[in-house]
Amino acid sequence: MRVGIIGAGIVGLSIARWLSRYENIEVHVIDKNPDVGWGVTKANTSIIHPCHEEDPDKHPLRMRLCLEGHDLWYEWVRELDIPSRWPGEIIVAFNDEEIHVLKHYLSLAVRNKVPGVKLLDKEELLSIEPKINPSAIMGLYAPSAGSIDPIQAAIAIAENCADNNVYFHLGEKVIDVIIRDRRVVGVVTSEKVYDFDIVINAAGLYADEISRMAGINDYYIFPRRGQYILYDSTAEPKPEKIIHTTPTPKTKGVYVLKTTDDTLLIGPTAEDLSPDKKNELRTTREGINYLLRNAEKLLPRLPPRNLVIKTFAGLRPEPSTGSFIIRFHEDPWGFIDVAGIRSPGLTAAPAIGKYVVELIHKHIDLKPKNKWKRYRKGIVRIKDLGVEDRNKLITKNPSYGRIICQCRGVSEAEIIEAINRMKKIGVKEITLDGIKFRTHTMYGRCQGSFCRVLVSLIISRYVGIKPWEITFRGGNSFYGIGEVKSLFKEVIR
Ligand SMILES: Cc1cc2nc3c(=O)[nH]c(=O)nc-3n(C[C@H](O)[C@H](O)[C@H](O)COP(=O)(O)OP(=O)(O)OC[C@H]3O[C@@H](n4cnc5c(N)ncnc54)[C@H](O)[C@@H]3O)c2cc1C
Repeated sequence: MRVGIIGAGIVGLSIARWLSRYENIEVHVIDKNPDVGWGVTKANTSIIHPCHEEDPDKHPLRMRLCLEGHDLWYEWVRELDIPSRWPGEIIVAFNDEEIHVLKHYLSLAVRNKVPGVKLLDKEELLSIEPKINPSAIMGLYAPSAGSIDPIQAAIAIAENCADNNVYFHLGEKVIDVIIRDRRVVGVVTSEKVYDFDIVINAAGLYADEISRMAGINDYYIFPRRGQYILYDSTAEPKPEKIIHTTPTPKTKGVYVLKTTDDTLLIGPTAEDLSPDKKNELRTTREGINYLLRNAEKLLPRLPPRNLVIKTFAGLRPEPSTGSFIIRFHEDPWGFIDVAGIRSPGLTAAPAIGKYVVELIHKHIDLKPKNKWKRYRKGIVRIKDLGVEDRNKLITKNPSYGRIICQCRGVSEAEIIEAINRMKKIGVKEITLDGIKFRTHTMYGRCQGSFCRVLVSLIISRYVGIKPWEITFRGGNSFYGIGEVKSLFKEVIR
């Protein structure tokens, strides 16, 4: 039995990981991007939500999957060596109206059986998180909240899937779904035709387009943009807890958090865009000012603006129905929608994968593999080692001693390791972004001004292409245009 998953985001990959446990299923993952996790998965707040903000009356499935997904992440981060922090989160109230909101979420916590959620008076609030603005009057503390590195999570799951014989077809856009006798029988991509018995639509913002290819047209996806400000790891104040303003019906509020990478993240906004704006990733002056205003409420003072290393935006794939759309179709048989996976989709992803396998199991007998590989290790980072271990490693492999990224202390060996791992999961084009997400070169204060050229020379050497032909993120996003001296000669001539 061949299963094709459209979408190598956190959802498609989580489904693939669950399916890779069975011996009578051959799993294929297709994505139009050259690498995994480059859709919605790469730009979000990264919170593993405790699920006290999910209303079980309005979204029962979403609440269930969020709760279960949260607990699965505890296991997955350990099994797959995914960077994570579990400091807990606090919703902060500044007036009586916001205290009502806190009480509402406390009641949801009780109903959803989220452990340890409690109200904090001003004194408790400031003793648990002294960096909160002293004008706050109350907090709702949820100790089980965490944060992961979402793109590292996608990469880790993909590597584990490859170890368990999942096939990846990256850089291929699905342009049609083939239906015969009211059954799905395959897909057509920009490169090939694939025969599949089951097709799973985990295409994020574009899931509605894939559904329409299968003849299903009862929902659409519209983007809800979230903008962010990212400060360098040296920025202070940086709260230990994840803190945020009170949620609204549209969003969970503006967060201020220390990321797994020790940077300070502020965001997101929540701006509904029309369905044709699925590439609208620009940040705006209004959006950034809105974030600064809200963050200034949460912290008594913000770090200086010259420590901002990046502003960016992500797009939530909002379903027109308001709820996650997860269903096994009888007509066409074998087509599965996993659509509209908006927030808390990152949290829910491992549970969504499990749920999809349960749906398949209702139709097909699944036989567990005897030898399924549960564990995966991340790239060894020289900067995280003590002096003795560093020396041992450098003696064994001197390229660990050649530091390419000065901001983040990334060595040449780590970049070469990333290239090898990319090849292993079927990445055909080694991009600068692919290296950046795996090694965190180009992530620091200089954002690659110093190390990008060195990284491109390493890629050039290992892949055998000219440095200027390397792209940032595939397509026409070339790093350069040619050899400087020959271009100069052209000008003189
Ligand atoms: C601003 C923001 C904040 C968020 N914060 C949180 C949070 O803190 N916690 C949380 O739990 N959730 C959060 N989320 C939600 C979470 O990020 C998403 O639910 C999750 O990433 C969705 O993953 P996905 O795999 O469904 O989508 P994607 O990551 O977009 O994956 C879909 C993939 O399908 C591919 N694809 C699309 N069309 C085609 C095609 N025709 N052919 C081949 N491939 C195709 C795309 O290239 C993409 O890689 C947030 C989202 C946003 C935008």
